[in-house]
Order: sequence, then C-alpha cells, then structure tokens
Amino acid sequence: MTFHWSLECSSCTKPRSVEGLPTVCDCGQPYLVRYGAVPPPGTKALLSDRPWTMWRYREWLPLGDGESPVTLGEGGTPLLAVQRIAARYGFEDLCVKEESVNPTGTFKARGLAAAVTRAAHAGARRFVIPTAGNAGIALAAYAARAAIPARVYAPASTPPTILFQIRSFGADLVLVDGHIGDCGKAAHAYALEAGAVNVSTLREPYRIEGKKTLGLELAEQFGWTLPDVIVYPTGGGTGLIGMWKAFGELAGAGWVGESRPRMYGVQAAGCAPVVKAFQEGAAGCTPWPEPWTIASGLRVPGPLGDRLMLQALQESGGGAIAVPDAALAAAARDLQTLEGIDASPEGGAALAGALELKTKGAIKPHERVVLFNTGAGWLYRA
Ligand SMILES: *Cc1c(COP(=O)(O)O)cnc(C)c1O
Repeated sequence: MTFHWSLECSSCTKPRSVEGLPTVCDCGQPYLVRYGAVPPPGTKALLSDRPWTMWRYREWLPLGDGESPVTLGEGGTPLLAVQRIAARYGFEDLCVKEESVNPTGTFKARGLAAAVTRAAHAGARRFVIPTAGNAGIALAAYAARAAIPARVYAPASTPPTILFQIRSFGADLVLVDGHIGDCGKAAHAYALEAGAVNVSTLREPYRIEGKKTLGLELAEQFGWTLPDVIVYPTGGGTGLIGMWKAFGELAGAGWVGESRPRMYGVQAAGCAPVVKAFQEGAAGCTPWPEPWTIASGLRVPGPLGDRLMLQALQESGGGAIAVPDAALAAAARDLQTLEGIDASPEGGAALAGALELKTKGAIKPHERVVLFNTGAGWLYRA
C-alpha cells in the first residue's frame, strides 16, 4: 500500500510514518494529516456520479487506492434554509447544516467512520473511547460494522437514551463518576493494559479528517463558495479544527477563492474553557472546574485540541461566546417548533450563540451565516 498522505505534529512539525496506529507526538500534541497532492479544480466533475456520503471526497481523505471504508453512509447531510427563524431574529441568509440525520444521530459518525477505517486497515483488535456520550454511540456502531470489540467510558450523568444507544450497538459501556476528562484517564489506562486503540478526540489523527468533510460538503453545497460566518457548538473542537483545515486545503488547491468564513465557537456558560482562553488571548485552555451543562457534547473541560481551536478562531477573525443552558434550550425548541428540525441542546447553542453575536454586532444581518445542528434532540430525552 502506498499512502498519499503523511503525518506531521501540529506543534513541533515532527513527521511520523503513517504505518501502524499513530497516537500523539512525543511532545504531547496531536498529529495532523498532510496531503502530498490534492486534486486540481478541473476534477470537480468527477464528483457528479459519486454517492452523497463523505467518501465522495476520498482523494481528500486518508483512504488508500483500492481500499474500502468502514461506512454506514455517513455525510451528505442537508443544508436547510431556516427562513422563519431568520425572519423572527433579523437574519437575511441563515442556514442550518442538519447533522442529526447521520448514522447514530450525530456528526460524530463522520470522525469515527474515518478513525475506525484507518485502524481496521492497520489491524486494530480492540477499540476504546472516552466520551461525553455521542462519540461513544458512533464508535459502538462503527466498531460493530468492522467486527472489532469496543469499550466505552462515559459519565454516569450522560442522558439515559445516549447510554442506551451505546449498549444497543454491543459496546462494553463503563460508567464513570465524573466528566469526560475522568473518562479519558480510564480509557488511557485500558488502552495500555488491553492493547486497545484509543480513538479519543485528537489522540489519533483521523477523526479530524472525517470531520473535515463538513467543510468540503458546505463548499460544494454553496457551489464552491464559502459562507461569511460559521457558528459551531464547540466541545473537543474536532468540527472547528476540521472545517478550518478543509477551507485551507480547498483554497490551497484552488477549489474556492481565498476568502474564508469567520469561525465562531459557542460553549455553554457552565463549561466554557475555550471562550475564557479566547477572551484572555491565551494560546491554550485552563481546565474548567466542575463543568456542567445539559448540552453534554459541550461538557469538555480541558480539550486536547485547545491550541488548534484557538488558532482557527483567531486566524479566521471569528471568536467564541458562551450561552446559558436556558438560552440554548429555548433556541433548540425554536428550531424544533418553527422549522421541524430536531435540534439537540448543542444545536440550540449554535442558534443562541448566533443571536447573541448579532445583538453584539459581530454578525451583520445581511451576512451568509451557517449554524450546525450537530445531533438529534431525541437522544437527550430521559
Ligand atoms: C461532540 C459534540 C459536539 C462538540 O463537538 P466538537 O466538534 O468535538 O467540538 C457538539 N454537539 C454534539 C451533539 C456532540 O455530540
């Protein structure tokens, strides 16, 4: 097998071979995938007869020639204009990228499809993941699809339907009295002891590549142009980092123009380490004490991708904002009742954040704004 990509540390730029099962660099920071040659713009036409899953962009993904992905049909999600919400809140061009229709009900499917695909090709015998919930469902499903056992560490306080779904796909679920950071320690110990591949956010380089397809899809859905503003509910940061990487690669290859969206991360007031770091101009996050929010996907007190997230927010000219749980729950309800979109609390956070950013003047009414409903509301029912 020859590989059309290589690995490079995101901090010290040290290279690593793509053979085997890469984790983080010796310096402790994540590796990122670098592509030797991305397709020239003249090959856009090749896409026209490919199915609408994220693998239509296979030249931009870590998939070897002739290799098949481990797939459940992830990606290819709708980009929905939300005119009633736009009219109510004074936006002229507002869309929602509706990720709840992915396999397992969240955009986590994209990252785990990519990570499980690479690990399966490298001979993984067992998986482990620490999760705030939804990544655990996605790993459980993709591991089942690859016929490889999976262990999931999740907080005992995770919404019961999410825990139910993790077990439904046959994963070995271990409940932890704490948050995702505590689950991370348990998963790391299990990985060493059981020889399991740890697919924790940014502890391996391929989940980001799957998330990158959010950005590739948006560009294609807008006719190879990019929106002015992206408002994204931010936990571990894979979506923000992945999309920013996608926009850079697309611009570098001449598939879109040079102007890129301003990226805004939205967090919950009860766990907002990225917002705090951004406001202080810090390069990294200080772990958030006693994190709590009903938007469990945002309950990530000390993300490993903090530096990369903060870089993307800064370089893009965007920012970060925190919203209280009451506001994100009300916004999720707006998406449900005014538009028929089954928004998760995190999807609600994106809308609540956009409203706040517009009130502050950071987003102008005429701008083309894209929100993300990252998961399905029904997963949060008790
Ligand atoms: C994991 C998760 C998030 C946070 O995603 P990141 O890209 O890792 O920051 C947001 N919403 C939902 C529903 C999630 O499951």
